[in-house]
Amino acid sequence: MAIYGLDIGGTKIETAIFDHELNMMKSWRIDTPTQNYQVFLDTVLKLVKQADDYTSERGNIGIGMPGLITPDGRALSANIPCVTGKYIEEDLATLLSRPIALENDTRCFALSEAISGAGKGHARVFGAIIGTGAAGGFCHNGQLEVTAQGFAGEYGHIPLPADIQAQYQLPVLKCGCGLMACVESYIAGPGISRLYQHFNGETITPKEWGIRLKQNEGDAQQVLACYLDILGATFATLAKFLEPDVIVLGGGVSLVDEIVNNLSPAIEKYLFSGFRAPLLKRALHGDSSGVRGAALLGSTINDRTTVLSKSKASIY
Ligand SMILES: [Zn+2]
Repeated sequence: MAIYGLDIGGTKIETAIFDHELNMMKSWRIDTPTQNYQVFLDTVLKLVKQADDYTSERGNIGIGMPGLITPDGRALSANIPCVTGKYIEEDLATLLSRPIALENDTRCFALSEAISGAGKGHARVFGAIIGTGAAGGFCHNGQLEVTAQGFAGEYGHIPLPADIQAQYQLPVLKCGCGLMACVESYIAGPGISRLYQHFNGETITPKEWGIRLKQNEGDAQQVLACYLDILGATFATLAKFLEPDVIVLGGGVSLVDEIVNNLSPAIEKYLFSGFRAPLLKRALHGDSSGVRGAALLGSTINDRTTVLSKSKASIY
């Protein structure tokens, strides 16, 4: 049985077709329709039809998407506004006339890296993406930890520690999630620009910050020190609850050597004396971790309890 992985992002949808041993046979990308729910659904339907035509089968489907499903079954996604408030899992399953596995995209990333990526061989793997946002997922013995409400792994919404806020006199920012001082506002890509602006006054891109860091500019160094304190304290908090063997890093920030190479001591600064930080590794599959993780979930579709429920379907 073929398996289709769909990684639906805020700008692109990547679709990949895998065989039953999870070898990727074909993949392609198109733009994500983000403003019209009907167009969004039609696009996913078309992609699955293309995959069915390619394989001459009705493959199992796993979908990764940014956002959450609220306890009443409705989607909440800042990156894809048209799905917010919709019963997307039921609507897609009805439309595609087969059950689907739908999961947060960073949880798909974590699963992919735990099973066949940088976390392979470790029992407790936390996958953390730091890009335009900061989110992750936890896998234990090759299984994604699935929780009742699905928000476990949202370390980006741990609050900024008071001592770090005071030390650097940081502004207390309102997060896109509605809460105050979530670390995502400081550690994700846009957060680097905010930190630089705080210390220097100038607004620059994270890439420009990287250039100034290599030139040993004082304010750029100050941003790095502050950044490492925030991310170190955040991962130390995560370690105190989950104690992962390894944290697998993905997203643009994970490519910055000055952050990755100095992160272990930054974590240990906020752990108990003499205890070690989890291993830190860069993701192995890079951009294709999303479709791979979605397909891994799709491959277990028969074990899942996705139920077609007309009564819950959105009116579209
Ligand atoms: Zn938040």
